[in-house]
Formats: sequence, structure tokens, C-alpha cells
Amino acid sequence: MIRVPGSVRPVGSIITSRMDGEDGEDGAGGAALTPVFVGLGANLGDRRATLRAAVQALHALPRTQLVRVSPLYRSAPVDAGGPDYLNAVAEVATGLAPQALLESLQAIELAAGRERPYRNAPRTLDLDILWFGDQVIDTADLVVPHPRMAERAFVLRPLADLVPDRVDAERLQAVASQGIEHQEGPAWAEGAVLR
Ligand code: AMP
Repeated sequence: MIRVPGSVRPVGSIITSRMDGEDGEDGAGGAALTPVFVGLGANLGDRRATLRAAVQALHALPRTQLVRVSPLYRSAPVDAGGPDYLNAVAEVATGLAPQALLESLQAIELAAGRERPYRNAPRTLDLDILWFGDQVIDTADLVVPHPRMAERAFVLRPLADLVPDRVDAERLQAVASQGIEHQEGPAWAEGAVLR
């Protein structure tokens, strides 16, 4: 079990601990860590507990550490039925390659009991790679920046909390009609990760 002592860092602060090397390296002489923003969503089961476990699982990935977590939001499903989602965005720093990170995220989804019976089905856990550093990726399995992120308030709102200078006001305005409600500050993930 990993746990952050004290509070989850306020939005804007950077966590450093496990792998802090010089010059952004991973502390083991490896390649520089890449900042990655991951969208988290859950609309089945104990959604908050699932998201807290997902944050913990992200930090437990090899050569990866959690940097910060956004506030928690509630949103109505887009193009789908089912209960409301809880959503957040996490920033991690990782030495994993994009495809390896994608596979790791899918393993975390599976471990949370996710099934994919049909497109946009309700899900216990959805993890999306929004940005992988400044890389542009377009493969059969992975498209980054995430192709639908600009249309989704439940992505843009928490992302804007973390990196306001990277989400422009016009873009937020364009999704303002989508129902999304602030649920909790970033302390929702407090105690999920021990350093
Ligand atoms: P979803 O069911 O909405 O989570 O979509 C999952 C599918 O999207 C998987 O088959 C992934 O290979 C694919 N995918 C493409 N780009 C991304 C991305 N940036 N992050 C996560 N999944 C992605």
C-alpha cells in the first residue's frame, strides 16, 4: 500500500521523491522522464474509490511517479447512458514509452473490472493518455493528443486546473454547456499514494 503523507500537493506543486535524478533523469541513469497527462473516469461501482486506486496504480507503475492530481468532477455521460461519471486528470512523469504506458493503463482498467461490451458502455474505469510530453502519435492503438479531448468538458476542466496556460478560454467556453460539476478539491486523492 502506498500513501502520501500529509496532503496531496495542491494543484500547481510538483511531487518529487522516488526517482528524482538530475536534469529530469530517472535516477538510474535512464532516459529523461516525460510529463504525461492521464484522464480518469469512472461511472460504475464505487467511483471515487476506483479513481483513488487508479491514482495509486499509476504511481506504482515502473519508472513512473505521480506528479499531481486535479480536483474531482462529476459529469453526465456523453453519447451514452448510465450513471454520472466522476472525472479527474493526473499528471505523471514516466520513463515508459507511449505504447508501454498505454498497455499499463489498459491493465489497470482491466484490474478495476472493466469490460468493453460495446462502444461507450458504462465503465468501472477509463484511463486515457491526453498528452505524452509534446509528442504527436498516430498509430492504430494510440492517438495523442487524445483525439476527443478538445470536445470534452470533463477533460478540459480538470486539465485547466492543472495547466491553465495550456487550455485556452475559448476552448473551455466551447464546452461550457456540458454538464460538469466540481465535486472535491485535489485532496480527494489524499492518502492514495505513499512516498
Ligand atoms: P475507450 O474504450 O474509449 O477507452 O478507448 C480505448 C481504445 O482507444 C483502445 O483500444 C486504445 O488503443 C485506443 N486509444 C487511442 N488513443 C488513445 C489514447 N490517447 N489513450 C487511451 N486509449 C487510446
